Amino acid sequence: MAMTTITIALLLILTLWLPPALAGNTWGEVDAALPGRPQVIGFYSAGCLSGATMLPLQGEGFQVMRPSRNRFYGHPSLIAFLQALGRQEAARGERILIGDMAQPRGGPMAFGHGSHQSGLDVDIWFAQAPRGQILSFRETETLPMLPVIDATAGRLNPTRWSPRLRDTLKLAADNPVVERIFVNPIIKQAVCHSEGAERTWLRKLRPWWGHDEHFHVRLRCPADSPLCEPQKPLPPGDGCDEDLDRWAWEVQQIALGLRTRQMPLERREPVLPTTCAAVLNGYPVQ
Ligand SMILES: [Zn+2]
Repeated sequence: MAMTTITIALLLILTLWLPPALAGNTWGEVDAALPGRPQVIGFYSAGCLSGATMLPLQGEGFQVMRPSRNRFYGHPSLIAFLQALGRQEAARGERILIGDMAQPRGGPMAFGHGSHQSGLDVDIWFAQAPRGQILSFRETETLPMLPVIDATAGRLNPTRWSPRLRDTLKLAADNPVVERIFVNPIIKQAVCHSEGAERTWLRKLRPWWGHDEHFHVRLRCPADSPLCEPQKPLPPGDGCDEDLDRWAWEVQQIALGLRTRQMPLERREPVLPTTCAAVLNGYPVQ
C-alpha cells in the first residue's frame, strides 16, 4: 500500500515536472494523416488538416525534395494542383521539384515556416530537372537550393533564370484554385518589366522576403472545408508599382550591407482553432 502511494506520488511529480509540449515539435512527430473526408481547419499560419492526402514522391513531371521531412501532405486540391502542373511541365520536357507542403495533420512546424499549416501551401523549387532525370534519394536530400537572383545587382541571375521559369509561374497562376504566389520582390519586378499586354495573372504574384530559390503557391479555401479561414482578398491591379520598386531596392540595399532588415521583435506562437486539438489527438473531423 505504502509502495503504491509512493509510486503514485512519484508519477504525479514526474507528470507535473514535464515541460509543456512545443506545438511545432508535437505536430512534427505525428507520422500519419487522419482518415475520413478532407477538412482544412483554420488559417494558413494557424491551422491544421484532417483527412490529408499524400503526394507520391514522384510522378509525371514532378519529384518531391527532402522527403525525410515528411512534409508532402495536403488537401486533395493541393495534390491535384501539383499533379496537373507536373503534367504541364512534362509536356514541355521538364520536371518540377516540390519542396515542403504540410505535415500529415498540418499544424505548426518545428522549423522553416510560419505558414504551411493547413494543407494549402507548397514550395516549388525554381531549379528544375529534365523530364527523364529521376533524382536519387540522396540527391533529393542534399541538392542545394540556389537563388535565381543576383541580389547585390538588384536583378535576376541570367545563368539561373530562364523565361521558362516565368512560364511555370504563369501556368501556376492561371490555375483558378491558386489564390496567390509569393516570390522575391526582385523576381516580381523583373516579370513586371518583361510582360506585355496580358498582365492579369501578375496580380497573383505577391512580393515577399526570401523566395529567391523557390516560389510559394497558396491555394484558396476549398468548398468542402467550412472551417477554412480565407486570407484577405488581393488588392486590385497587377502590383507593378512604386511599393514594389521600393521593396526590390530594399532587398538590394540589404544584400549590399547598406541596410538591415527590420524584423518583428518576437514571433508569436500561433493560436490554433480548438478543433485542431482533436485532430492532433487522432479524432477525424466529421
Ligand atoms: Zn513556403
